[in-house]
Amino acid sequence: MSDQLTLSLHSRFKEHTDQLIELRWIFVILALGVISLGSRVFPGALPIPAVIALCAVMAAFNGAARAYSRRMELLNDEDLERRYTRFVYAQIILDIVFFTLFLHYTGGIENPFYVFYFVYVTAAAVVLPGRFSYCCAALCTILYSLMVVAEYAHWVPHVHLTDFVSIQRYERGLYLVVVLVSLGATLATCAYLASSIAKTLRRRERELLESNNSCEVRAGELAQLNARLADLDKARSQFVRLVTHELRAPVAAIQSYLRLILDGYVPAEKQREIIEKSERRALEQLALIGDLLDLARLQEKRGDEQPVAVDVGAVLVGVADLMRARAEDKDLLFSVEVEPGLPSVKAAPEHVKRLCTNLISNAIKYTEPGGIVVVTLAQNPNYVVGSVRDTGIGMTPEQMAHLYEEFYRTDEAKAMERQGTGLGLSIVKRIVESYGGRIWVESEKGKGSKFSFALPKMG
Ligand code: ADP
Repeated sequence: MSDQLTLSLHSRFKEHTDQLIELRWIFVILALGVISLGSRVFPGALPIPAVIALCAVMAAFNGAARAYSRRMELLNDEDLERRYTRFVYAQIILDIVFFTLFLHYTGGIENPFYVFYFVYVTAAAVVLPGRFSYCCAALCTILYSLMVVAEYAHWVPHVHLTDFVSIQRYERGLYLVVVLVSLGATLATCAYLASSIAKTLRRRERELLESNNSCEVRAGELAQLNARLADLDKARSQFVRLVTHELRAPVAAIQSYLRLILDGYVPAEKQREIIEKSERRALEQLALIGDLLDLARLQEKRGDEQPVAVDVGAVLVGVADLMRARAEDKDLLFSVEVEPGLPSVKAAPEHVKRLCTNLISNAIKYTEPGGIVVVTLAQNPNYVVGSVRDTGIGMTPEQMAHLYEEFYRTDEAKAMERQGTGLGLSIVKRIVESYGGRIWVESEKGKGSKFSFALPKMG
C-alpha cells in the first residue's frame, strides 16, 4: 500500500475512532450523573453498584480502545482498511450492548434515555459507509425488545422508577408492542436519512478531492507553460538583438563608404571599387532580409506556397546544374546521383528548391579547392532520402549542437567564407519538419560533412 494511501487511511479512521472514544467518555460521565441524580430522585430504586460497575467496564473498554487505536497507527499492511473497519464495527456494537444494559439497570422501558439509540445509528451512518447503520438500527431494536420482553416475562428483574410514570409500563403488553414497533420504525428511518445524507456528503467530498487534484495538475501544467513562455520570451529578445545587430552592420559599412566618398577621401579612380563594395554589402543585407522573411513565414506557418506533388530528383538536378559552375570554379569534384523512378513528395516546389540550394551551396562554400562534393537522392520504404557529402572543413560535435540556431556560424566558416547569414539551416530544418520529414548531419572536423534529409513519400 502506498505511503500516501496509508496516511490518509490512518487519519480518516483516527478521526472516527477518536469521535467514538469521546462519545463514550461523554456517555460514562452522563451515566454517572444520571445515577447520582437518580439515586436522590428514586431513593433505593436503582441498583447503584451494578450501574457503577457497568460504567467502570465501559471506561476500561474505552481505555483499551484508545490503546488499540494508537497501536493500529503504527501498522502498514494490506489488511489495514479491513482491520480498521472491523474495529469500528466492534466498538459500535459493544456500545449498543452496554447502553441496553444501562437502560435495563435504570428503569428499562420507563427510562426516556432510550432515545440515545438514535445517536448510535447516526454515528454508524456517518462513520461507516454501506448498510451498517441499518444493521445498527436492527440491533438496537432487537436488544431493546429483548430487554423489554425479558422484563415483561419476569425473566430478569425490572427496575421500577417509583412515582416517575403513573403506571408500571413494562406490564402493559400492547403498550410495549407499540413502543417497540415505533422505535424500530423510527430507527430505520433515521438510518435511512443519516446514511443517505452521509452518502451525499461522501460523494461531494470525493468530487471536491478530485477537482482539487485536477486543479493541482492544472497548476503544475500552467507553471510549466509559464516557464516555457519565459524561455520563449528570452529567445525572442535575443533574436531581436541579433537581427538588429546583423542588419546594422552592412548599413553602417555602406554609410562609412559613402561618407569617405562624400568627404573626398577617395580618389576618383578608387571610387568605383568602393561603390562596388557598398553594393555587395547592400546585396548581403537584401539576402539577410530575404532569409528573415522566409524564417518568419515558416514560423507563422503562413507561406503562400501551396504543397503539390514535387519530383525532388528533378529539382535537385536543376539546382545542381546551376551550382556546377561555382563548384568547378573552386576546382571541386562535383557529382550528382539520383536513383531512377523515385516517387514524388508533397511539398511546395520553392521549399524543396531552397532545401537543395542551401545544402549544396554550403557544401561548395565550406570545402577547400580540390575537394569533393557528392549529392545523392534515393528512397527507403516511407521516405525520399537525399544527402550532400563534402570533404570540407567539417565540424566538432559541440559546433554541430548549435547548427540549427539562427545566426550560428562556426569561426572556421566565418574565416573561410565571409558571406553567410547563419539562417539557411534554420530555414531548411523548419521546411523539412513542416512536411513531417527530418534533417540530420554527420561531420568530422577537418574531414568533411554529410547533410541528409528525408521527406515523406506521397501516399
Ligand atoms: P550560412 O551558410 O549562411 O553561414 P547556414 O545556416 O546555412 O548559414 O549554416 C550555418 C553554419 O553551419 C555555417 O556557417 C557553418 O558554420 C556550418 N555549416 C553548414 N554547412 C556546412 C558544411 N557543409 N560544412 C561545414 N560547416 C557547415
